[in-house]
Amino acid sequence: MIEVMEEVKEKLKEVGKDGFKKKILITELTPRDGIQCKLATRVRTDDLLPLCAKLDDIGYYAVEVWGGATFDAALRYLKEDPWERLRRIKEVMPKTKLQMLFRGQNIVGYKPKSDKTVKKFVEKAIENGITVFRVFDSLNDNRNIEVAVQAIKEFGGEVHAEISYTRSPVHTYEKWMEYAKELADMEPDWISFKDATGILQPLEIYKIIKGIKEVTEGKIPVLLHNHDMSGMATMNHIMAVLAGIDMLDTVLSPLAFGASHPATETVVAALQDTPFDTGLDLAMIAEAAEETKKIKKKYKKYETEYAGVNAQVLIHKIPGGMISNMVAQLIEANAIDRIDEVLEEVPNVEKDLGYPPLLTPSSQIVGVQAVLNVLSGERYKTITKEVRDYVEGKYGRPPGPISKELAEKILGPGKEPNFDIRASELADQEEWDKAVEELRALLNREPNDEEILLYILFPLQAKEYLTLRESGELVPEPVDAVEPTEVADGNVLGAAAPVEFDVVYHGDKYKVKIEGVSISDENEPRKYYVRVDGKLEEVQLTPYKEAIVSGQGGTTTTTSGEGGLPKASEPGDVVAPMPGKVAKILVEEGQEVEQGQTVAMVEAMKMENEIHAPISGVVEKIFAKVGDQVNPDEVILRIKEK
Ligand code: MN
Repeated sequence: MIEVMEEVKEKLKEVGKDGFKKKILITELTPRDGIQCKLATRVRTDDLLPLCAKLDDIGYYAVEVWGGATFDAALRYLKEDPWERLRRIKEVMPKTKLQMLFRGQNIVGYKPKSDKTVKKFVEKAIENGITVFRVFDSLNDNRNIEVAVQAIKEFGGEVHAEISYTRSPVHTYEKWMEYAKELADMEPDWISFKDATGILQPLEIYKIIKGIKEVTEGKIPVLLHNHDMSGMATMNHIMAVLAGIDMLDTVLSPLAFGASHPATETVVAALQDTPFDTGLDLAMIAEAAEETKKIKKKYKKYETEYAGVNAQVLIHKIPGGMISNMVAQLIEANAIDRIDEVLEEVPNVEKDLGYPPLLTPSSQIVGVQAVLNVLSGERYKTITKEVRDYVEGKYGRPPGPISKELAEKILGPGKEPNFDIRASELADQEEWDKAVEELRALLNREPNDEEILLYILFPLQAKEYLTLRESGELVPEPVDAVEPTEVADGNVLGAAAPVEFDVVYHGDKYKVKIEGVSISDENEPRKYYVRVDGKLEEVQLTPYKEAIVSGQGGTTTTTSGEGGLPKASEPGDVVAPMPGKVAKILVEEGQEVEQGQTVAMVEAMKMENEIHAPISGVVEKIFAKVGDQVNPDEVILRIKEK
């Protein structure tokens, strides 16, 4: 580190000389990464457009407006067409390059797709308004971005090839330089160095950026994308500037810092009247920040306690988005008290899987398996389909070696994983044609390319969305928060306090159910887990009079079957290990099954989990259907012993 500091000293002398000038470019991330980190991507297009219109005048290098989470949230919650969202944004932003985040061969989804699908997506994205593509592979297996990079060039887009940072025994300085050279060989327009977790240190980033500039002989401009979970990102920005960075990514102050990025205003002001002046006008940026405040106010209920600076990240090194995902899962599984065990298990799973950086989809693969390892009481007792696929090489080559024990458990005794095949070759090559056929049946007409892409990337959500759209029944989730009203005075609520009711609020009707309550602690407001129209919300409140809750400490919950599914009571009852949506039922009533056979798939945390038969026998009755939400105590289907 001494040597780095010496270099910084020399650099400062150079910067101090007369005439030295280098304009730092800024990419504004508020409409995508900003609202993703701070407002769970729940901002509707109507509410985003006034901000976008303001951003168009500022003179940013580019503005990020689209990414994987945009698709997911648009279909699941906003009931919007993500393509339409992009076209509407482009309409109000004619002057600025629009940027998207692109998950390499996974595109905007969670699984590697065929080359044909990747190329088609790029073509359509450009046609609908995207110019800049930030392309990454969550394993840094650069074979997984090659096809996208070629397609982006072919269709006239701009390639920003990314290196994803993490900290592990296999991720050395030399490894970062190796990745930089690999990317440079693809001749991208930019190289992006990204820390999605927010654990990079200032002197470390100086060394890495300087190194990347050297190994690429300064031929390719370099940018830094640095989340601020540890609070160090603003320092890193300055060090990266001194190291020769060409562009920085920022978010407007109302949604900046913490899980998000350094504030645009802060960075612009910090460099103002220096040789690195961005040339951007702070007054214009302030106007855009005002628009952002309005959005923040309207979508306040999506802000979580995990979105601020959190020093814990320096210990567990788990990205904020991943933690909030795991917390949501544990709350639904009525096991939030086991969060610490899960956080401890994450690094073990990471190591077993060869230290993948924790980005989509590897963060979900690691996160779900860690939750399962803790909840099922035995490591790898249940293995998700994704972990199987990962070990079979369907996601690409992990940075480090896979645990021998886990590999043998999945592949068979003495077998070793083979990562020589490119992930896309193991993807379904017929996915395009199959989707066309299925959509024809669903829509009773010829689907367009955008619809086909939605269907391939998000089969369950797209099917639901398109069906509702065709019948004119799209209803977005309500935006206005259901605030806890004042607690009735004078009465101690009895054990039979209502937990499920319809609430009419400003004329809108919501179905509300109290799912659980956190442990009583004088120093902290109680957290109530309330399901509003099927969606779990966390509400903090301090009751004046305590409701009497049933017996044991910790989380208590009511678990009346939501979809009318019976409670598990018999040894042959098939249940999911965590709450989720039934994605597939693989057996029929009357069918014979073996113990351990996969009988259903349940989608949880965006992953498909195999559900196995607990006993051998005959399928007596199937209770759940595809699309049903199931809890761990609800029977999906019942097997009768022969
Ligand atoms: Mn990001």
